[in-house]
Amino acid sequence: MKSSTQPGRFFRILAVGMLLAINLLSGSAQELPGAKTQVEARGIWIHPESQFSADPEKGRQEVREFVRRFAQANFNLILPWIRSVYVAALTDENYRKSVPIAGWDALGELVKVAHESNVQVQVWYSFTDYHSPDSPDFNPKLGGNPAWAARRIDELVSDKTTGKVIPRRMSDVCPLHPEARKWQLRQIETLLDRYPALDGIHIEEPGYGTKGNCVCDLCLELFKKMYGYPETNSVDGVEAEDLKCLGTTDFMRQLGELLNQRNPKLVLSANGGYSWRGDRRQGRDWARWAHLGWLDYYAAQVYTGNLNDFSSRVQTVCRDLKPDCAVLIGIGIDWSGGGTNTLETVLQEIETSRKLGADGVALFHGRAITDAHLASLKAGPFREPARLPERYRTLLQRRN
Ligand SMILES: [Zn+2]
Repeated sequence: MKSSTQPGRFFRILAVGMLLAINLLSGSAQELPGAKTQVEARGIWIHPESQFSADPEKGRQEVREFVRRFAQANFNLILPWIRSVYVAALTDENYRKSVPIAGWDALGELVKVAHESNVQVQVWYSFTDYHSPDSPDFNPKLGGNPAWAARRIDELVSDKTTGKVIPRRMSDVCPLHPEARKWQLRQIETLLDRYPALDGIHIEEPGYGTKGNCVCDLCLELFKKMYGYPETNSVDGVEAEDLKCLGTTDFMRQLGELLNQRNPKLVLSANGGYSWRGDRRQGRDWARWAHLGWLDYYAAQVYTGNLNDFSSRVQTVCRDLKPDCAVLIGIGIDWSGGGTNTLETVLQEIETSRKLGADGVALFHGRAITDAHLASLKAGPFREPARLPERYRTLLQRRN
């Protein structure tokens, strides 16, 4: 069998070579009929609230300029960080003060301009972490509820050394609360209603932000009933890990169903660490969701300048998720904790991700990318345009 395929292979190589020669001769990066476009996600995570001006005219100009720069460098995906407070600010004057860009519809402008350049926009949203006590999620006037706030063990049990209890942080929504999940889904529905051209929803680190979660009243009650002993005895143990995954899993399942009902073309994805084992301890059960066919892609943050570590982490996540889910590699240019990568390292990491079988990359983050980065990407790994990978999600209608 093997030898009989050789002539065919030879002619395919010859044909590809001829097409490349024609392309080089014509000096055009345009596709020829029948030629295969490269398939690869090239995403950028951005923070519109700090990237675009509160002033409508200036802000719109900045959006146009931003999209032009990234589209010219052959990016094909923008992931804008949209908080629940942005959704509230669309209609609520009090929240408008903290997110003025909602007033001139920054997200709508971004979607419109990006689509003119064939770039997709998928909203990057957190249903759990990155909140504060004044978040709409906890505001009864907007349907929120402070009782949904996750409680960490050090907010309930006094420290053995100091004897003190830490004041409530209210940084996470505990997704075990069914009403909290419904509320978060309504925020996403509001965005889909308002921006029907959105291409998908990208969920930020779908779990609790830290260890020590969650000992809210509901979690304490459920834990005791399920496992027969107090959760405070083992808040980071294996039973608590399973309990944390129940709420996050139900949210992701409901979100997939919602997207399927509204528009099956909407892309559903998540991001987090490169190790499912570590992430699951915080309720981020993305490996299971991927294997169940619930995710179109998973974006693994592999933020390091050590190329050996980078390679082994990319191999780990590709091995664990493929072929059930596309894998994007998150490459850090400037990330929390003070980490930065040189331009040379970023280019090397893109090539390494490709070689190891990733379906694309997402760079972190928009404000950290300079014109020098974009010029080097365009001259190097992003020289040819690429289209996004095919859909992976196979979520079926609910089985009752
Ligand atoms: Zn809880």
